[in-house]
Amino acid sequence: MLVSTPIGNLGDIGARALATLRAADLVLCEDTRNTRHLARVFAIGAPLSALHEHNEAHRIPEILRLLAAGRRVALVSDAGTPLISDPGFRLLRAAVAAGVPVSAVPGPSAALMALTLSGLPPQPCLFLGFPPPRAAARRASFARLSALEKAGLSATLVWYEAPHRLAATLADLATALGPRQAAVGRELTKRFEEVRRGALAELAEHYRTAPARGEITLVVAPAAEAAAEPAAAEIEARLARLLARKTSVREAVALVARETGAPRRAVYARALALNRGRADSPPQRPSRARPQAGSGRPCSED
Ligand code: SAM
Repeated sequence: MLVSTPIGNLGDIGARALATLRAADLVLCEDTRNTRHLARVFAIGAPLSALHEHNEAHRIPEILRLLAAGRRVALVSDAGTPLISDPGFRLLRAAVAAGVPVSAVPGPSAALMALTLSGLPPQPCLFLGFPPPRAAARRASFARLSALEKAGLSATLVWYEAPHRLAATLADLATALGPRQAAVGRELTKRFEEVRRGALAELAEHYRTAPARGEITLVVAPAAEAAAEPAAAEIEARLARLLARKTSVREAVALVARETGAPRRAVYARALALNRGRADSPPQRPSRARPQAGSGRPCSED
């Protein structure tokens, strides 16, 4: 039985997950130290045994024998859903091939949680695990993805990533895929949970200057979404903010085009329309009244 466990918040453990783990004859886990903590918190008394990348293939015959003998074997990983960028696939495939019945207790998974919170189309989506850690291999894999998109692939893209590589990965994605909206899900279900949304280049710059900490799942808009213009309201709000700070039109257009991934010509047209609107509006009498919420200065995103 594949049993999903929390990705941070222990309150997310399900009743069926607990019942299955408590009733198991053996709990296979990625790292017995991590699962021992879960077992202590939830009074799970079943023996724990390590099944990880390095011993999985070797342990398959013995585990299949236990299953064939009717023993209740549960598989968990350190967090989330087993097999999803975690061990267990080879065991499951061997069990299926041997005709051993298999089932799962579904539960948390960072990829699905980040996808659903991203604000990007949930389907079709393509989950790609971790990008290659080395820059050259990572860039080559993004170039292959870009070629697939040019050949017609259009899906929201989901990766797991280590915090210290996040900024470089975002920058490589911006280079390979071009202007594109994305969302970074950080520390999901935990105390410092955060979902930061923006254009790839903007997010890359953010995490370059303020390096991320904790666990990260990255979601990137599909190719077709990138072609669509970002919401006019968002572009206008950003332009208005910059122009109100006396930034030149030229500079504001360049910044907003880079931040949102919108075509520069479209941003320029909106900047002109904004300026025209200001010029057309009747002169305002200076007022000493304090500005009302929702009027005047556009809201800050900070
Ligand atoms: N099997 C797990 C699942 O279903 O979510 C994923 C295991 S994978 C080895 C671990 C990676 O998932 C982390 O390095 C991080 O990229 C992502 N991840 C796990 N927990 C997360 C969380 N709470 N918030 C954001 N990402 C998370």
